Amino acid sequence: MSAIKEELKKRNQDLCELCNAEIASIAYTVSPKSDESIENQVAVCDVCMKATDDNNSGFHWRCVEGSIWSPYASVQALSFRILNQYKEEAWANDLISSVDLDENTIQWALSAFEVKDIHKDAFGNVLVTGDNVVLTQALNVKGTNFTASKGTVVKKIKLVHDNAEQIEGKINDQVIVILTKFVKKG
Ligand SMILES: [Zn+2]
Repeated sequence: MSAIKEELKKRNQDLCELCNAEIASIAYTVSPKSDESIENQVAVCDVCMKATDDNNSGFHWRCVEGSIWSPYASVQALSFRILNQYKEEAWANDLISSVDLDENTIQWALSAFEVKDIHKDAFGNVLVTGDNVVLTQALNVKGTNFTASKGTVVKKIKLVHDNAEQIEGKINDQVIVILTKFVKKG
Protein backbone atom coordinates (compact mmCIF):
# COMPACT_ATOMS: atom_id res chain seq x y z
CA MET A 1 0.00 0.00 0.00
CA SER A 2 1.29 3.42 -0.78
CA ALA A 3 0.31 6.88 -1.83
CA ILE A 4 -1.50 6.78 -5.09
CA LYS A 5 0.21 8.27 -8.12
CA GLU A 6 -1.70 10.66 -10.36
CA GLU A 7 -0.92 8.52 -13.34
CA LEU A 8 -2.48 5.48 -11.68
CA LYS A 9 -5.57 7.42 -10.64
CA LYS A 10 -6.03 8.64 -14.16
CA ARG A 11 -6.21 5.11 -15.50
CA ASN A 12 -9.79 4.79 -14.30
CA GLN A 13 -10.81 8.45 -14.01
CA ASP A 14 -10.10 8.53 -10.25
CA LEU A 15 -12.36 5.58 -9.61
CA CYS A 16 -11.47 2.32 -7.93
CA GLU A 17 -10.34 -0.15 -10.58
CA LEU A 18 -12.12 -3.02 -8.85
CA CYS A 19 -15.60 -1.72 -8.01
CA ASN A 20 -15.62 1.19 -10.42
CA ALA A 21 -17.93 2.96 -7.96
CA GLU A 22 -15.88 4.70 -5.28
CA ILE A 23 -13.00 7.13 -5.54
CA ALA A 24 -9.68 5.29 -5.44
CA SER A 25 -7.53 6.16 -2.46
CA ILE A 26 -4.93 3.42 -2.28
CA ALA A 27 -2.31 2.07 -4.65
CA TYR A 28 -2.36 -1.67 -4.14
CA THR A 29 0.75 -3.46 -5.37
CA VAL A 30 -0.17 -6.97 -6.50
CA SER A 31 2.22 -9.46 -4.89
CA PRO A 32 4.73 -10.94 -5.52
CA LYS A 33 5.66 -7.79 -7.45
CA SER A 34 7.14 -5.31 -5.09
CA ASP A 35 8.38 -2.46 -7.15
CA GLU A 36 5.84 0.30 -7.14
CA SER A 37 5.51 1.00 -10.79
CA ILE A 38 1.91 1.45 -11.78
CA GLU A 39 2.02 -1.61 -14.05
CA ASN A 40 2.13 -3.62 -10.82
CA GLN A 41 -0.53 -1.63 -9.05
CA VAL A 42 -4.27 -1.33 -8.85
CA ALA A 43 -6.06 1.84 -7.75
CA VAL A 44 -8.36 0.68 -4.96
CA CYS A 45 -11.00 2.36 -2.76
CA ASP A 46 -11.40 2.00 1.01
CA VAL A 47 -14.44 -0.24 0.65
CA CYS A 48 -12.62 -2.74 -1.55
CA MET A 49 -9.55 -2.59 0.66
CA LYS A 50 -11.67 -3.55 3.67
CA ALA A 51 -13.36 -6.31 1.73
CA THR A 52 -10.01 -7.95 0.99
CA ASP A 53 -9.68 -8.65 4.73
CA ASP A 54 -13.12 -10.16 4.98
CA ASN A 55 -13.65 -13.75 3.92
CA ASN A 56 -17.38 -13.31 3.60
CA SER A 57 -17.47 -10.51 1.12
CA GLY A 58 -18.44 -12.54 -1.91
CA PHE A 59 -21.42 -10.26 -2.48
CA HIS A 60 -19.12 -7.27 -2.72
CA TRP A 61 -16.80 -8.98 -5.17
CA ARG A 62 -19.41 -9.38 -7.82
CA CYS A 63 -17.74 -6.17 -9.02
CA VAL A 64 -14.86 -8.21 -10.43
CA GLU A 65 -17.30 -9.29 -13.13
CA GLY A 66 -16.48 -5.86 -14.52
CA SER A 67 -12.87 -5.36 -13.45
CA ILE A 68 -11.66 -8.67 -14.86
CA TRP A 69 -12.11 -7.12 -18.32
CA SER A 70 -9.75 -4.26 -17.50
CA PRO A 71 -7.00 -3.76 -20.08
CA TYR A 72 -4.38 -3.68 -17.31
CA ALA A 73 -2.68 -6.93 -16.29
CA SER A 74 -2.40 -5.84 -12.63
CA VAL A 75 -6.16 -5.32 -12.41
CA GLN A 76 -6.84 -8.58 -14.22
CA ALA A 77 -4.48 -10.45 -11.89
CA LEU A 78 -5.99 -9.03 -8.72
CA SER A 79 -9.52 -9.63 -10.00
CA PHE A 80 -8.70 -13.21 -10.92
CA ARG A 81 -7.08 -13.74 -7.52
CA ILE A 82 -10.22 -12.53 -5.76
CA LEU A 83 -12.39 -14.60 -8.07
CA ASN A 84 -10.39 -17.70 -7.32
CA GLN A 85 -11.28 -17.38 -3.64
CA TYR A 86 -14.96 -17.73 -4.54
CA LYS A 87 -14.57 -20.38 -7.21
CA GLU A 88 -16.98 -22.68 -5.37
CA GLU A 89 -19.74 -20.19 -6.10
CA ALA A 90 -21.50 -20.46 -9.46
CA TRP A 91 -21.07 -16.82 -10.50
CA ALA A 92 -17.31 -16.94 -9.91
CA ASN A 93 -16.93 -20.30 -11.55
CA ASP A 94 -18.84 -19.11 -14.62
CA LEU A 95 -16.66 -16.06 -14.89
CA ILE A 96 -13.43 -18.04 -14.50
CA SER A 97 -14.44 -20.23 -17.41
CA SER A 98 -15.47 -17.34 -19.62
CA VAL A 99 -12.43 -15.09 -19.30
CA ASP A 100 -9.44 -15.63 -21.50
CA LEU A 101 -6.52 -14.07 -19.70
CA ASP A 102 -2.90 -14.23 -20.61
CA GLU A 103 -1.15 -17.21 -19.03
CA ASN A 104 1.36 -14.97 -17.27
CA THR A 105 -1.44 -12.96 -15.74
CA ILE A 106 -3.09 -16.09 -14.42
CA GLN A 107 0.20 -17.30 -12.96
CA TRP A 108 0.58 -13.89 -11.35
CA ALA A 109 -2.91 -14.10 -9.88
CA LEU A 110 -2.47 -17.61 -8.58
CA SER A 111 1.00 -17.07 -7.16
CA ALA A 112 -0.76 -15.85 -4.01
CA PHE A 113 -2.04 -19.34 -3.37
CA GLU A 114 1.36 -20.94 -3.84
CA VAL A 115 0.13 -23.04 -6.64
CA LYS A 116 2.89 -25.55 -7.03
CA ASP A 117 1.33 -27.34 -9.91
CA ILE A 118 2.97 -26.01 -12.98
CA HIS A 119 2.14 -27.82 -16.19
CA LYS A 120 5.14 -29.74 -17.54
CA ASP A 121 5.55 -32.06 -20.48
CA ALA A 122 7.01 -35.58 -20.32
CA PHE A 123 10.51 -34.10 -20.23
CA GLY A 124 9.93 -31.47 -17.60
CA ASN A 125 9.56 -28.52 -19.98
CA VAL A 126 7.08 -25.95 -18.71
CA LEU A 127 3.94 -25.73 -20.83
CA VAL A 128 1.89 -22.60 -21.33
CA THR A 129 -1.34 -21.92 -23.15
CA GLY A 130 -0.68 -21.46 -26.86
CA ASP A 131 2.17 -23.97 -27.02
CA ASN A 132 2.28 -26.65 -29.68
CA VAL A 133 2.95 -30.16 -28.46
CA VAL A 134 3.64 -33.55 -30.00
CA LEU A 135 2.13 -36.77 -28.67
CA THR A 136 4.82 -39.09 -27.34
CA GLN A 137 2.59 -42.12 -27.66
CA ALA A 138 -0.60 -43.17 -29.41
CA LEU A 139 -3.72 -42.13 -27.57
CA ASN A 140 -7.21 -43.49 -27.71
CA VAL A 141 -9.52 -40.56 -27.82
CA LYS A 142 -12.34 -41.20 -25.38
CA GLY A 143 -15.81 -41.16 -26.81
CA THR A 144 -14.60 -41.43 -30.39
CA ASN A 145 -13.44 -44.20 -32.66
CA PHE A 146 -10.08 -42.83 -33.51
CA THR A 147 -6.63 -43.19 -32.10
CA ALA A 148 -4.29 -40.26 -32.32
CA SER A 149 -0.94 -41.62 -33.41
CA LYS A 150 2.37 -40.95 -31.78
CA GLY A 151 3.91 -37.83 -33.25
CA THR A 152 0.58 -36.08 -33.79
CA VAL A 153 1.06 -32.35 -33.45
CA VAL A 154 -1.47 -30.58 -31.24
CA LYS A 155 -1.43 -26.87 -31.84
CA LYS A 156 -2.25 -24.10 -29.40
CA ILE A 157 -2.98 -26.11 -26.31
CA LYS A 158 -4.82 -24.71 -23.31
CA LEU A 159 -3.86 -25.50 -19.74
CA VAL A 160 -6.47 -27.05 -17.46
CA HIS A 161 -6.22 -24.71 -14.51
CA ASP A 162 -7.14 -26.91 -11.63
CA ASN A 163 -5.15 -29.88 -12.83
CA ALA A 164 -1.46 -29.61 -13.67
CA GLU A 165 -1.51 -33.04 -15.31
CA GLN A 166 -3.99 -32.05 -17.98
CA ILE A 167 -4.08 -29.84 -21.04
CA GLU A 168 -6.70 -29.34 -23.69
CA GLY A 169 -6.02 -29.50 -27.36
CA LYS A 170 -7.67 -30.10 -30.69
CA ILE A 171 -7.21 -33.37 -32.53
CA ASN A 172 -9.32 -34.02 -35.63
CA ASP A 173 -11.21 -30.82 -34.86
CA GLN A 174 -12.27 -32.11 -31.49
CA VAL A 175 -11.18 -30.53 -28.24
CA ILE A 176 -9.92 -33.23 -25.95
CA VAL A 177 -8.15 -33.44 -22.62
CA ILE A 178 -4.63 -34.82 -22.88
CA LEU A 179 -2.35 -35.86 -20.05
CA THR A 180 0.83 -33.77 -19.93
CA LYS A 181 2.95 -36.89 -19.39
CA PHE A 182 2.12 -38.01 -22.94
CA VAL A 183 3.25 -34.85 -24.71
CA LYS A 184 6.47 -33.13 -25.66
CA LYS A 185 6.67 -29.41 -26.20
CA GLY A 186 7.00 -28.85 -29.95
ZN1 LIG B 1 -13.60 -0.26 -4.84
